[in-house]
Amino acid sequence: MKNVPLYLAGEFVDSQTTDWIDVTNPATNEVIARAPCTTHAEMQRAIAHAGEVFKSWKEVPVSERARVMLRYQALLKEHHDDIAKILSRETGKTFEDAKGDVWRGIEVVEHAANIPSLMMGETVENVAREIDTYSYTQPLGVCAGITPFNFPAMIPLWMFPMAIACGNTFILKPSEQDPLTPMRLAELFEEAGAPKGVLQVVHGGKDQVDMLLTDPAIKAVSFVGSVPVGRYIYETGTRNMKRVQSLAGAKNHMVIMPDADKQQVINALVGASVGAAGQRCMAISVAVFVGDAQAWIPDVKDALAKARPGAWDDKGASFGPIISGRAKARIEHLIETGVSQGANLLLDGRGCTVDGLPDGNWVGPTLFSGVTTEMDVYKEEVFGPVLACMEVGSLGEAISLINQSPYGNGTSLFTSSGGAARRFQHEIEVGQVGINIPIPVPLPFFSFTGWKGSFYGDQHTYGKQAVRFYTETKTVTARWFSSEATSEANFSIQLR
Ligand code: NAD
Repeated sequence: MKNVPLYLAGEFVDSQTTDWIDVTNPATNEVIARAPCTTHAEMQRAIAHAGEVFKSWKEVPVSERARVMLRYQALLKEHHDDIAKILSRETGKTFEDAKGDVWRGIEVVEHAANIPSLMMGETVENVAREIDTYSYTQPLGVCAGITPFNFPAMIPLWMFPMAIACGNTFILKPSEQDPLTPMRLAELFEEAGAPKGVLQVVHGGKDQVDMLLTDPAIKAVSFVGSVPVGRYIYETGTRNMKRVQSLAGAKNHMVIMPDADKQQVINALVGASVGAAGQRCMAISVAVFVGDAQAWIPDVKDALAKARPGAWDDKGASFGPIISGRAKARIEHLIETGVSQGANLLLDGRGCTVDGLPDGNWVGPTLFSGVTTEMDVYKEEVFGPVLACMEVGSLGEAISLINQSPYGNGTSLFTSSGGAARRFQHEIEVGQVGINIPIPVPLPFFSFTGWKGSFYGDQHTYGKQAVRFYTETKTVTARWFSSEATSEANFSIQLR
């Protein structure tokens, strides 16, 4: 069993802490490593060092910063499968899904390599006689990121490449449940030529996060995780005068119109509800059938029943285990509430077993029909392979149902009607909309734009908005005299 190191002041070092958190393989519950709860002194050192390194990193020409990202992209591609194996082991994700997790992160690094054009300011000549105005974007300073367990490659890569390409230094606090993947990302970042200390990685939980949220040296905090923690991060960070972008939990609906293509709908619903064991913030957890739900549900049930969990290297497995025994117990409890609150349990994933892996956190595909908005299985983010089916009378009713949800991360509509699609995308109060696409995660040249209770903040992650989040704008108004000054001192605002 290995101790996960800190990446502190440019060195991979053992923490001096006495407080450690076990990292387990969720398919076996075997302890594979332990992560340190970084000490107060180590946290202080990381923050001070990030401030020191910022002074030199911000002066590195933007094209050189871009070249670090180009080299990093190439190294991540070269080590893609090895990173995916580490990721599979600590999350349980199937190898194919783990590769997708890494790949979606690499795409953000590609975006960060475009930083010279992304950071361009604006210029207007002759805003007044012989006066020009131009703006620059300049880095903020020390930034921090706190990431969840469910995408240990992609989500750290949503954050630090963009922040660092902008000229900031960055302290990452990854999920304590799967810190091995982010450490590998950090090793490769150093190998790509990033100066020591530009990126640091600390481990732990609330105590370490609280230091990042309250230390005045930290200018911006990026968070991805659950709703209660996301609210806390936003409230605490902004109270401490930081910029905060806080991406939180979700409950995503897929609306199925009677004219949708049946096979496409079934494929999309099954993959998007139980893929990654439902542990995706953009997973579809509610199917809303417009018209007769019974025309669809038996086929959805047959297809879902064929999906099965398994080990990361089991090529026939549809998805892996739940991240922890605690998370599994929570999912099973929510399934129980569905039954006791009157939904029809058509497929029950509780008590699921996988041959040869008796100790894994397995939950099988679970399907409910007759779900209503008062039920916990509708209101709560289950974060498991559970699909809740509902029936409404019209597209308008479906839109109104979704707009009343406190969440607004993702939604999708399946239809063959352009008119229905146009109305849905216009009226729906959700930040990421798929038309005949179940999980509409935007590529990194757009931003990841959750709304309502799924996002607290102003500027979203990656895309152009990330550059605004990680920079300040400085606007210069300049006059260079081309003739001798003739005017006299002015004591009032000039009318131009
Ligand atoms: P989590 O909120 O439990 O943990 C996220 C991070 O916060 C971890 O690094 C953890 O150590 C830290 N943390 C936990 N409790 C804390 C506390 N009390 N104070 C300060 N920090 C604390 O989330 P998770 O279970 O790791 O991840 C799953 C959640 O993340 C789901 O709700 C999912 O929807 C959400 N998520 C959202 C998005 C998005 O883009 N909106 C993306 C991925 C995951």
